[in-house]
Amino acid sequence: MNEQNIELIVRQVLESMQSDGYGKTSSYGAAAAAPAGAIPKTAHVAVLTKLGNFDVKEYPIPPLGDNDLLVKVEGTGVCGTDAHEFKRDPFGLIPVALGHEGTGTIVAMGKNVKKDSAGKDVKVGDKIVTCMIFKDDPDITTYDLNKQNVGGADVYGLLPDDDVHLNGWFSDYIFIRGGEFGSTFFNVSDLDLDSRILIEPAAVLVHAVERAKSTGILRFASRVVVQGCGPIGLLCIAVLRTMGVNSIVAVDGNPQRLDFAKRLGADATVNFADYPSGIEDLTEGVKKAFGGKLADFGFQCTGNPKAHSNIYKFIRNGGGLCELGFFINGGDATINPHFDICSKELTIVGSWVYTLRDYVNTFAFLDRAKKIGLPVTELITHKYPLDRINEALETNLAQKGLKIAVMGDPSLAKD
Ligand SMILES: [Zn+2]
Repeated sequence: MNEQNIELIVRQVLESMQSDGYGKTSSYGAAAAAPAGAIPKTAHVAVLTKLGNFDVKEYPIPPLGDNDLLVKVEGTGVCGTDAHEFKRDPFGLIPVALGHEGTGTIVAMGKNVKKDSAGKDVKVGDKIVTCMIFKDDPDITTYDLNKQNVGGADVYGLLPDDDVHLNGWFSDYIFIRGGEFGSTFFNVSDLDLDSRILIEPAAVLVHAVERAKSTGILRFASRVVVQGCGPIGLLCIAVLRTMGVNSIVAVDGNPQRLDFAKRLGADATVNFADYPSGIEDLTEGVKKAFGGKLADFGFQCTGNPKAHSNIYKFIRNGGGLCELGFFINGGDATINPHFDICSKELTIVGSWVYTLRDYVNTFAFLDRAKKIGLPVTELITHKYPLDRINEALETNLAQKGLKIAVMGDPSLAKD
């Protein structure tokens, strides 16, 4: 950096302090006033190097190609998938840069980058999220997913390590590769930071509700049971509520989570711990919560085989069920095909991740949830700085809080 540059920076800092007082907040103000293009030479990436341990590594930021983007990370949600990787590495990815629920600011883009995956203009300074990477399966087109679901697509944050290294959102900079790499991303500058951190998990629910609607059973006045009140079940309730479904019963074993389910739109809650004698009793509890009737539709949002077996009992003859809790192999569940499916004529759908279209609908969901006063962003209970990522994962595994975030920008972290 030469003297002229330093002079320029000093002048900009002074100007920003005079203009709005923002710059007076010490070092953060100075950073905010740094000229555009002041991009560091290296990035910090949390790499899961062995089970239960991330090391924050420093890598050079690769030169930007004409189709690439460099994004300064603000924050990233910790997903159940990250927790599974941290504990057991079921996908065999170690060493890996994790974090797929991230958002941040474009700080540099190649000259060919003009629009996001929805056709919206993008410029340096815009806030973005990434979605699926469709590189190796031409049958999966970006919007028409009738042929095949996105089961095989990649995402940033679950890519194998390579010479770019900046492949996950648990970092301070992420490198988005354009062109044939098949990246997709969206300009979400209209949404606040916390809403942006929740886009990816919320998209899982927007998709699940779309799957549920495909049965023709989920309607405006349906009675819906949502089993499991982790972030996924809670977001499910909020999505149902924003689309006008009012009769929602939440089932979980944790009183705090059930309280939050009510704040997000559940009409009534059932704590399964209050029914130790078994499924008949618990079913009566769910029925009572619906005023004496069984549910028209159920969403199964836990990865527990017992919970899968139970939910059939809560649903009326001719009703529907969406199973979305088993993102990893949680084992076999026992059901009785005669009682649970055949004689009931149940319509069952599975749900897996989302499509690009679901992403766009998710932006509308988050905006709408905010407007009708649902406290969706209160799902984020912890914001750890990047260098405390191991603690963030331990907090998630201990089931303390709800959605844990890791802030690539440490000035955004808070305890
Ligand atoms: Zn996720």
